[in-house]
Amino acid sequence: MVLWHAHILTLFPEMFPGPLGMSLSGRALEKGLWSCHAVNIRDFAPGRHKTVDDTPFGGGAGMVMRPDVIESALLSIPDPGQKIYLSARGKPLTQSRVQELARTPVVTLLCGRYEGVDQRVIDAHDFEEISIGDYVLSGGEPAALILMDSCIRLLDGVMGNNQTVDEESHTNGLLEYPHYTRPAEWIDNAGKTHTIPDVLASGNHAEIARWRHDQAQATTRERRPDLWNRRK
Ligand code: SAM
Repeated sequence: MVLWHAHILTLFPEMFPGPLGMSLSGRALEKGLWSCHAVNIRDFAPGRHKTVDDTPFGGGAGMVMRPDVIESALLSIPDPGQKIYLSARGKPLTQSRVQELARTPVVTLLCGRYEGVDQRVIDAHDFEEISIGDYVLSGGEPAALILMDSCIRLLDGVMGNNQTVDEESHTNGLLEYPHYTRPAEWIDNAGKTHTIPDVLASGNHAEIARWRHDQAQATTRERRPDLWNRRK
């Protein structure tokens, strides 16, 4: 049964599912746990030239995607579910919003290009504006793929061990502890020997849990004082 479906409004439908057709999300796609359908915005542009953009009112550089074309593309989707415009001006995506979106069975993701999308169609159709970070991409497609990836991995049956999710960075307000694997003693290319923290080989699960929690706290305090200060 499909647990999660994403409609994508884009000028580049061939970008989907793209990398999400591989690995964990690819196997989940094959199993039918999620699905996606990319709608080519250009198919809804009027005229022979299929123009989707125009110059900005008020002047300035670049082009803006037309509201009428975006609306026609949106209205071609019978059940759009939660409408999201990937936007550098949006609220930053957080793990708690990802958890909510993973429980939202249908989402529609609008991918901008050029200088962005005419604000009137965003407002008229109640698009939630979401940013994937404080930097500017050339288009919304990579942002949509990131949002999709973060939701898909949380769907039931996609990841084997749910404990992995509980301890992950951003799930409990902390960054995760560091990981180590074999060999226990590793000699790098420069001839330097690197060992692992003794506690991890001790077999004492309570001690290991305590060490990991301390590491998570220390790393969060040092790297992300914003997250640390938000903790109660
Ligand atoms: N002029 C816009 C601004 O300054 O906010 C940037 C436009 S950007 C070149 C083109 C498109 O990329 C946007 O319409 C949006 O869909 C997408 N985009 C760029 N940065 C993004 C980000 N940080 N998060 C999500 N989408 C982004």
